[in-house]
Amino acid sequence: MESNKDKIIIIRYSEIHLKGNNRGFFENALVTNIKRALEGFTFSLQKTSGRYLLSKYDHNREDEIAERVRCVFGVYSYSIGYAVKTDIDAIDEIANLLMEDISGTFRVNANRADKKFGLNSMQIAAEIGGRILSRNAKLSVNLHNPEHILYVDVRETGNTLVYSNVIRAVNGMPVGTSGKGVLLLSGGIDSPVACYLIAKRGMSIRALHFHSYPYTSQNARLKVLELAKILKRYTINLTVDIISVTEIQTEIHEKCNEDYMITLLRRFMMKIANIIADKEDCKAIITGESLGQVASQTIESITCTNEIAQVPVLRPLIAYDKDEIIEVAKRIKTFDTSILPYEDCCTVFLPKSPATKPKLWVVEREEQKLDCKGLIERALATLETVTI
Ligand code: ATP
Ligand code: MG
Repeated sequence: MESNKDKIIIIRYSEIHLKGNNRGFFENALVTNIKRALEGFTFSLQKTSGRYLLSKYDHNREDEIAERVRCVFGVYSYSIGYAVKTDIDAIDEIANLLMEDISGTFRVNANRADKKFGLNSMQIAAEIGGRILSRNAKLSVNLHNPEHILYVDVRETGNTLVYSNVIRAVNGMPVGTSGKGVLLLSGGIDSPVACYLIAKRGMSIRALHFHSYPYTSQNARLKVLELAKILKRYTINLTVDIISVTEIQTEIHEKCNEDYMITLLRRFMMKIANIIADKEDCKAIITGESLGQVASQTIESITCTNEIAQVPVLRPLIAYDKDEIIEVAKRIKTFDTSILPYEDCCTVFLPKSPATKPKLWVVEREEQKLDCKGLIERALATLETVTI
């Protein structure tokens, strides 16, 4: 039987159930985000008792569609299966299709929402299970710990959903339900992971990248845009603001204590992030900092940059070890791009012995040697915005 025309993807969500009166708000955000994630595909999306059914899509692109759905925050799991008219023979035909080539132990999980259907859930499971067994000698029943489960879900609509796999998705909360934040996005391993983790809690992201062209290359810029493209699978929308800090770095290099290069640069980054946050209605600044990872991430360094921020700074990786960060980077597919060998602006004019415990009074004294206001204005004049 060619049942393709009735193929469906069942999409489940979890945490957003918990939000009481806000439930509608979360569900709307989830639906909007699934639709945006599937822009460019044809499909139909319907709600049915705490789940969504995706149907009428191009079956040749099913893997791509399923992968996009898997990456939408708020989606807990999905199953690919079939919707058939509620009829025991029609259900059995699909059961055969799904179970004919497998071996080992199995069980049928039946659920009957449509109480008008003649068989109750136990009877459906027994009937379909019996038919599967009679055709496939390589299968045996194990109710408690089966290798395979066939799900039969008799809906009130007159349709039954039949499927045999449940695939875990990214979970989290729909992006857009926790306001918007400015992400300081370098081309490294950490900040893309920070982006993923904060978007996972429902925050929309606007990325801000600093370069030092011509000291940093065009490839470094392309790498960041490539990372942004990968991150968009999770953030749904993503805009990247790109700003040159070449003049700022050159001025610091010429006029200031070189051990404070990175601290001073970081403070400029924060000042600019404040301005973008204000302009774009962002309620937080997000960084990929991890406590003690490098000189600029000691608690003293963080104190010097934190002081500048006018909105909360979210540092989801603060307690992560590098190998834990790498594990996430690989899982979310940013790792291979992050390790491409193009330099970040922080490596330009890198001091021989960067201050690991910068003192605020020294920082302020060094800043007095600079025309901070003018430098920031001219840096902002280099702003280029790329919508991914
Ligand atoms: P990453 O892997 O994210 O580059 P890192 O381990 O290289 O982090 P640092 O270079 O100290 O650490 O950067 C710390 C954080 O500062 C980054 O996670 C990022 O949020 C921000 N940052 C660093 N460089 C840039 C940049 N060129 N543009 C925007 N943000 C930056
Ligand atoms: Mg870096």
